[in-house]
Amino acid sequence: MVSGFKPTWMVTNIYDLTPAQLKANGIKAVLTDLDNTLIAWNNPDGTPELRHWLTLLELAGIQVIVVSNNSRKRVDRAVAPFDLPYIHRALKPLTWGLKRALRRWHLQKSEVVMVGDQLLTDIWAANHSRIRSVLVRPILKSDAWITKGNRLLEKGVMWELRRRYPELTWQEDLNERTTH
Ligand SMILES: [Mg+2]
Repeated sequence: MVSGFKPTWMVTNIYDLTPAQLKANGIKAVLTDLDNTLIAWNNPDGTPELRHWLTLLELAGIQVIVVSNNSRKRVDRAVAPFDLPYIHRALKPLTWGLKRALRRWHLQKSEVVMVGDQLLTDIWAANHSRIRSVLVRPILKSDAWITKGNRLLEKGVMWELRRRYPELTWQEDLNERTTH
């Protein structure tokens, strides 16, 4: 059961994913959660760091596609400054939104990675779509989109994952690949 929540990699921050590492793993598109993964929920304009990272990926020809459970209005407002494609109301932990993104942009499962800050939604949806995943630390500790109960459950699942898979550790990048 807990294996369904196991991320392929754990990297502190999405900005740590470099084009070289992504390409080395055959990744042509990064599917990413929005809130607390790409941007802080209370800073919808993002940071210079985010813009820099998006530019690097664009130059390398790697697509970034937002897959968010939020409403069209909220996601549209958040991604507008960056001109990113997105799927809204993705219904994670269901696989619907991820599958839809693969179909719409003609991507193979092996060509994408899902990045998110929540095991219960982002990582579970990736695993059940059979695509690789990166768990990142939430940009902000508190957030508006998750209940305290969910956060507690996340902690419990993480504790169990780390007990079961001692090799699962926070990495600097994708180079030190964990066994899946
Ligand atoms: Mg999130």
